[in-house]
Formats: sequence, C-alpha cells, structure tokens
Amino acid sequence: MQSTPSPAFIRARWFNGQSSRGRDVLLTLEPGRKGPSLRVHVLDQAHAASRLFEHAEVEWPPVWSRNRAPAVVTVSLNQAGSLEIDTPQAWQDALAQAGARPSLTQRMQTHWPVLLGVLLVAAIGVVAFYRYGTPWAATQITRHVPLSWELSLTDRALAQLDQGYLKPSKLPPERQAELRRQFDALLGRLGPELKRYPSYTPRFSLAFRSGMGANAFALPGGAVVMTDGLVDAAAKNGLSDDALIGVLAHEIGHVVHRHTTRMLVEQGVLNMGLGVALGDVSSLLSLGSTLLTGLAYRRQHESEADCFALALMQQAQLPTGPMADLLLGIAAAREGPRKDQPTKKAERGSFGEWLSSHPQTRQRAEQLKAGQAVGCPA
Ligand SMILES: [Zn+2]
Repeated sequence: MQSTPSPAFIRARWFNGQSSRGRDVLLTLEPGRKGPSLRVHVLDQAHAASRLFEHAEVEWPPVWSRNRAPAVVTVSLNQAGSLEIDTPQAWQDALAQAGARPSLTQRMQTHWPVLLGVLLVAAIGVVAFYRYGTPWAATQITRHVPLSWELSLTDRALAQLDQGYLKPSKLPPERQAELRRQFDALLGRLGPELKRYPSYTPRFSLAFRSGMGANAFALPGGAVVMTDGLVDAAAKNGLSDDALIGVLAHEIGHVVHRHTTRMLVEQGVLNMGLGVALGDVSSLLSLGSTLLTGLAYRRQHESEADCFALALMQQAQLPTGPMADLLLGIAAAREGPRKDQPTKKAERGSFGEWLSSHPQTRQRAEQLKAGQAVGCPA
C-alpha cells in the first residue's frame, strides 16, 4: 500500500499591502488537475483560516537548476500581494512533489538533453522544409506564375545570351526548317496525359544558335535552343535526326514541367523560409542554399525530363536509342582526343556543354536506350 506523503510546510512572508512588514505565513502546495494550487496559512492570527490560491491565480516563478538557486524566491499573487520564500530548495521540492510540470522553456533552461532535443527537432524541421517543403511550395506557387512573366524573362535571357555566349547559327535555312518541322510534329503528339500543369500552354519555338559547344536548352515559356555543335555531333556519330529529336523531347519536358520557373520560385521560397527560421544569419546562408538547391534539384528535374522524353518519343513512335548514342558520342569526344588540349573559349562559358549541365550521362544513356528510366511514372 502506498501512502501519500503529507505536504511540507514552507515558511514565507506575505506582503499583501495591509502592512509594510510581511506577515509570517506557512505555505503548502496541493496537487491539482491543472497544476499545484497554493495554500497560505497565516500564523499571527490565532483563528484565521488558510487561504487557497488556485493554480491560475499564482504567478509561478521559473524553475532553476540546482546550482543556480536564488537566495529568495518571490511569488506574485497578483491583487493578493506577493510571497517571499527564504528556502528556495524546499519550495522547489514541494512543487515537484505536488506534481508541477515545468514549461518547455523552463525545462530547456534546466535540462541540457531537452534543449538538445528541441534543437534537433528544429534542425530536422529546417532540413525537411528544405528537402520537401520548398519543392512542394514551389510546385504550388508555380501554378500561379503567368506565362507572360516567363516569356518576358526568356526574352531578356536570350537577348543577354546573344550578346555573350551565343552566335547566329550557320545551319542552312532548309536544314533548320526540316528540324523545325520534326519539332512541330513531335509537339503534335503532346497529349494532355503528358502535361504536368493542365492549364499551362507554353508557346513552343525552336531557335538555332552556334557557340556553347554541343548544347540544347529550354527557357521558360517554351523557347528551345539547339546549337550547331549538337547537330554536328549527331552527324559525326552517323546518327539520324531521331537523336536530335530525342534531345528536343527532353527539353520540351523541362518546359512542360516548368523546371526553370520552379527553380527560381524554390530559391525565393527557400531564402524566405531560411530568413524566418534563422533571422540575420540567412543572408549569409542564402547564397550557399541557392547553389545547393540548384544542384540538388537539378538531378530530379533531369530524370523528370528524361521520363517525359521517353513517353513523348513513344507517343511519336520514335526510338530513344539514337539520343542515347548521341549522349555517349559527345561524352567520348570530350574524354578522348580533346583531353590534353585546352577547352576552346567558345565552349566554356557558364552553361558549358549539354553534358556538364546533364550529369550521369552513361547511366542515363543506358536507360534511354532501354526505353525506360528508373522512377518514371508507369
Ligand atoms: Zn535537361
């Protein structure tokens, strides 16, 4: 059988405004549903009844750790004045006995494990936000980004590129027209089941440029750019136009999934989120996070674009093998004879070649060749 220990009496002085001198009182703490209540027993009045203060009527002082106990504890009873206790440890022991549960803040102040736990949960929260929250938020927000915004961004970006890395194409107009015809035919196979954003209707166009090595890229809103270098690479490897059309299908995938817009939005959301979580430190971290998101999400975007290309090429009844051979051919040319030569200036640039912005070439090429990539929706 277990007996409840009798409550301890704690000596205190009660300042209730009736006299400048505190009245000597004894305190007991009684367990309650919402926390301990406080009973004050007045000593200098022979027949005075004790007075009970409910848990909510007392301003409970913060809990302290054992080696930082204050000399005197002051407990406010609001309109009923305040109590001064000279035996802080007796007070704290009685509180614990009456079942007082310190608040989270108090536990953090007195218990390192709790503090570490809270920090860990916060860290997991930040990581989860970064890993899952941002892409999700970006996908949602991207729905509301108007096509006109993308088109004007693309106009400016392409104008800048034309002043920098890109040069006019030297492909004969009839060759350009032939590739455009195949590009349009491919778009004709783009059914609603392949659309990521059902109401999104990009304005697809195919532009030819030289410079930037063997490259192709998509800009928000539907502009796809292919370089002469890529067309040449296909010819050098003896590949049919299906190889180039495969690359274009991949770039159309980036447009349909609005990858560039999502990345821009993600970076905006991430910087905002980090700002909320970390305050001033964020300005320092945002640069790093911008780089990190760019790299971390690129891989996922690439496999989405690959899956899209596989599906669209299948719709158009075109093979994906030639595209894979083109990737491998460019990779081989890169690793092979040019190894010891300095890279030509025109081929460096911030974009680099299609390969450098599309990592894991070999693995991807194998999947494209087999006509199926890992993780594609069935
Ligand atoms: Zn890509």
